[in-house]
Amino acid sequence: MTDKQLYEKLKYSSKNAYEEMSSEEYKIMLDLAEDYKKFLDAGKTERECVAIAEKMAIEQGFERLENKEKLKPGDKVYSINRDKNIILAVIGEEAPENGFNIVGAHIDSPRLDLKQNPLYESNEMALFKTHYYGGIKKYQWTAIPLALHGVVYTRNNEKVEVCIGEKDSDPVFCVTDLLPHLAKDQMAKKLSDGIEGEALNILIGGIGVKSEDVQEKVKFKILSILNTMYGIKEEDFFSAELEAVPAFKARNVGLDESFVGAYGQDDRVCAYTSLKSIFDIDKPKKTAVCLLVDKEEIGSTGNTGMLSRYFEMILTELTCKITGEYNVLKINKAVSNSACLSSDVGAAVDPNYENVYEKNNSAYAGHGMILMKYTGSRGKSGASDASAEFVHEMISIFDNNNVVWQAGELGKVDQGGGGTIAMYIGNLNMNVIDCGVPVLSMHSPFEITAKSDIYMAYKSYVAFYNDR
Ligand code: MN
Ligand code: MN
Repeated sequence: MTDKQLYEKLKYSSKNAYEEMSSEEYKIMLDLAEDYKKFLDAGKTERECVAIAEKMAIEQGFERLENKEKLKPGDKVYSINRDKNIILAVIGEEAPENGFNIVGAHIDSPRLDLKQNPLYESNEMALFKTHYYGGIKKYQWTAIPLALHGVVYTRNNEKVEVCIGEKDSDPVFCVTDLLPHLAKDQMAKKLSDGIEGEALNILIGGIGVKSEDVQEKVKFKILSILNTMYGIKEEDFFSAELEAVPAFKARNVGLDESFVGAYGQDDRVCAYTSLKSIFDIDKPKKTAVCLLVDKEEIGSTGNTGMLSRYFEMILTELTCKITGEYNVLKINKAVSNSACLSSDVGAAVDPNYENVYEKNNSAYAGHGMILMKYTGSRGKSGASDASAEFVHEMISIFDNNNVVWQAGELGKVDQGGGGTIAMYIGNLNMNVIDCGVPVLSMHSPFEITAKSDIYMAYKSYVAFYNDR
């Protein structure tokens, strides 16, 4: 063996996932990406994602967990929490005390939420006040077409589902931005201060009602339109949940169509691949669980976020319905012996901003699924640092199944950082590691992922469900 050959054998380098794929796999990858784009277009809010996940689950023969008294190996069940959070399970051959195999993603994404009293008129235009949700760069949300999605409850207890701006014939909405000709002061500001939170107001109308009696003629017109379309009054906004999201559809990016560009890929790329992988599982050894949560982008808080006890309650219900008894020791063992892939996205090295990444420990688009031993900021603050034993176990499973994976931190030390649901899953006393898809332009209205990485994430979740 030459020195060069020996060196190649000893050293580590991540692999290009496309180069490792057979032509059959390449075809599966392309089909998966097409199906994924449809999923993205149909699910732009957490509620819509839960609705699609439920529809897909029913097609795959899943039944509602609350309708089942007992569970046996091969049973497929799901449970929905407040329309924003869903858990699916395929019951395994082994006893629950051996632990479950869990893949968990989040289905909320950064966006502009309407305030509770949003509608106002200014300069004979009607606008909606917004309060942004999650970590956004505000300037990215001006001067792009927006769609409105959400629910409104009327005083007659009617639920109105709103979705305007997605069909080609629909109008869209927009946050206007200052013309460069008059932006001398704005352009001198720091990027973070260039657009203020209170300036993220959405233009929704400009034709007034012809009336002598009413001053706010445009607002009056918009209220009349809303009342005709949905039967709602201004006070109904107080209880409403309306989200403004980018109105464009998921697209292929690049002449070679190697990437998917779309809104909300953090973390619906992992939600989609997690769902697809559990649908591939029939009678696993350990019970397979797919968890889709809300509120990750604002700290996993609230009753539909990862900090809610809902997840523990469902693991308890599954254990009791499989074992046929309520036994706290068995429940505790089931939880402690479980393992979870926190399926969330990571940062891909951006050729335009290479200097914020440390090249030996960053992920590259096209180099497969990212395994992130820890996340967090500064001195790993807020990280769930997976143990050597668990990382080793997962890597063995991925390698045995020819998953192309890479290790990746979010960026250089002290450059910033971030967290996922992993730390809250770790709090339950189970093994957990972040494992997902590298993304370019994360949290922007148009995020980019490589098709090969989407496929490898899916393949890694299937391998985990089957082999652990
Ligand atoms: Mn995420
Ligand atoms: Mn995020």
